Formats: sequence, C-alpha cells, structure tokens
Amino acid sequence: ALLVFEGGDGAGKSTQVRAVARALESQGRTVARTREPGGTPLAESVRGLVLDPTHAPVDPHTEALLFASARADHVNRFIRPAIERGDVVISDRFVDSSVAYQGAARGLGLGNVQELNEWALRGLTPDLTVLLDVETSVAESRRTDRGRAADRMEGEDRDFHTVVNQAFRELAAAAPERYLVLSADQPAQVITDQILRRLAEVLP
Ligand code: C5P
Repeated sequence: ALLVFEGGDGAGKSTQVRAVARALESQGRTVARTREPGGTPLAESVRGLVLDPTHAPVDPHTEALLFASARADHVNRFIRPAIERGDVVISDRFVDSSVAYQGAARGLGLGNVQELNEWALRGLTPDLTVLLDVETSVAESRRTDRGRAADRMEGEDRDFHTVVNQAFRELAAAAPERYLVLSADQPAQVITDQILRRLAEVLP
C-alpha cells in the first residue's frame, strides 16, 4: 500500500510520518519510509541540483521535468518493489506536490503537470493521501522557528504559499475517496489518531 503526506512547508508532515510509521510498526507491519523530491540516490541528487543555489533560478519547466524524472526512478526502484513485497510505503510528498508547486504556484497548469507525471507514475496512485492543511500564518511561524525561512523560501512569499495550499485543497476535493484532509492546527497526537483510524479502513 502507498500512503502519502502532502501539505505546505511547515504543515508538520515529517512529524506525522514518524508517528504513523511507528504506530504501524507496532501493529507488526513493515513500513518503508521515503520522501520526495528524493527517495533514491538518483532522485536525491536531482533534489540537490534543483535546490543548489548555483543553478538558481531554475525555471518551472526545468524543475517540473527534473522532479518528474526523479519520481520515475523513485517509483521504479523504491516504491513499486516495496509495495510488491507487501510493505506500507509512506512518502513525505508525492506527485501532488509537483501539481501544487510547479502546476499552480509556478504557473504551469495543474493538468499539464499531472499529464507530465503520468510517464513517471505509469498507473501508480496512492491508496491514501493525507493533506495537512495549514493556515499560511501558522506555517510561516513554524518555518521561521526552524530557521528555514532563509533557504528555499527566499522569493516564495505569502501569496505563493496561499496558492500552494489552495491547490492542495482543490486536489483533495476532486478525489475525496483517496484523500484525508486534516487541519494541521491541532495537537500532533490528535492528527495521528485520525490518520490511524482512516488507515484501519484502507489497509488490508
Ligand atoms: O518538504 P520538503 O522540505 O522536503 O520540500 C523541499 C522544498 O521543495 C519545499 O520547500 C518546496 O518548496 C519545494 N518543492 C517544490 N516542488 C515540489 C516539491 C517540493 O518546489 N514538487
């Protein structure tokens, strides 16, 4: 099975990935944790290239193509084999991040980025995607707390994050059967419990 966490920066995805992975493991399941952009050596190298200031600014078409090629490797070499072994794969971000960031916020169009990624996915869809929906102001303070405001965030203003969040909400609304939308502005444990309850219905 494939479980994905999506949401803007500062939504608390990595905290939930850890907590949910630990809970599933204590139920005796084998969990394969991963992230995007990245998840394999090739894909992590692509992530490094895109985030490397030497190459800034990377134009949105280039970024979308690089992330899609990284995803193809991630799906082929990591995600599909893990699913076939019977693992629960948990990914911190997946294709909907590309749709929200490159498609919506960087203006390529949601449908164009979805279409581009069909090559990378070859029919793979998550069994459940959890959207940690965060108010822009809350996310901003979390990012600043972690000292992240200065890295990739430069040039990504408040409007950028509002557009990203709105795109995630639209994607979730279009596929309610495979999306769980939770307010990120709740205690972590409360969020984890809601995810585990939904997962009990989804996982075999
Ligand atoms: O979630 P994580 O911190 O790993 O994301 C790294 C950065 O990559 C984020 O700040 C986000 O702005 C960016 N990103 C992106 N397009 C994607 C995925 C992530 O621009 N498809």
